[in-house]
Amino acid sequence: MANTQSSNPHPSFEPGPILLMGAPGVGKGTQAKELVSLWTIPQISTGDLLRANVASGSALGQHARALMDAGHLVPDDLVNQMVELRLQEPDTTHGYILDGFPRTLAQAEWLDDKLAVGAHRLPLVAVSIRVAYTQLLRRITGRRICPVCGSIYNVYLQPPRQEGVCDLDGTLLQRRDDDSETVFEGRMRAYEAQTAPVVAHYQALGRLVEVDGEAALDAVTARVEQAVRHLRNA
Ligand code: AMP
Repeated sequence: MANTQSSNPHPSFEPGPILLMGAPGVGKGTQAKELVSLWTIPQISTGDLLRANVASGSALGQHARALMDAGHLVPDDLVNQMVELRLQEPDTTHGYILDGFPRTLAQAEWLDDKLAVGAHRLPLVAVSIRVAYTQLLRRITGRRICPVCGSIYNVYLQPPRQEGVCDLDGTLLQRRDDDSETVFEGRMRAYEAQTAPVVAHYQALGRLVEVDGEAALDAVTARVEQAVRHLRNA
């Protein structure tokens, strides 16, 4: 999974550990991928790591599966251990983007302690991408997907040429079940409840910057990059 990169491809700037935060639909995953190619550092998603454990049938995966299916958090100790192992991979030397971790205050405190000692020289910095609730609602509830070619449209923001039909192959577009307003509201409430203490924690330490996510992809990436450099005093 990890590559064996050992030298810093950007010797003038060490990104270090970066936490990307944001509600469902803010474009966090997309921005993480942009930073991966900008700085040649890995994205570490605890959701992805857990799903890989479930798929391989490991002891951790067997334990986590039922909790994940029910939408509950996996216990801190298990997630922390998994992250600890991942951070020992050599591709994390110059930095990494954490996605979905830390999700609780206990995880944040564990990570701070971990990073305060050992080989990792820089503290974690956090960027929170903010998009207004009504805009998020339009992004999520307006999303339509072509079941054949996978093209994604948005009835408000990026509609197909002919309503309800894929531009590329003429297939009737579909809406994902979990893109309903009710499900979205539930996900938003869970996000707020879980992450508010983590945001407050990094804010109190002066290590969090909020970025306006309501702009074109490139413009938001530039804001996130600037925020990380600012937090690193670079
Ligand atoms: P995600 O893909 O980030 O939405 O994560 C999918 C599921 O994995 C979550 O609903 C949790 O059950 C579990 N999970 C992911 N990250 C964490 C974490 N940091 N702490 C606890 N559980 C997590």
